[in-house]
Amino acid sequence: MTDFHTYCKKCNAVLTSDEKAIYMKMVDRSASEFLCLDCLSEALHCERSALEERIRYYRESGNCVLFR
Ligand SMILES: [Zn+2]
Repeated sequence: MTDFHTYCKKCNAVLTSDEKAIYMKMVDRSASEFLCLDCLSEALHCERSALEERIRYYRESGNCVLFR
């Protein structure tokens, strides 16, 4: 992983690697622009907590290369 910051394309929040990973997982695997959890939950019409839940699930399952 490189060390530059990526920003939410909507609100310019600094993104974590989890936020980028969940965006790729749920929206576009080859995305180069991302949304933060708040904007992504809005875009997907779901709760932010549901996304956090999913991140935890993928992390714990250890199967997804996007979550390490
Ligand atoms: Zn945002």
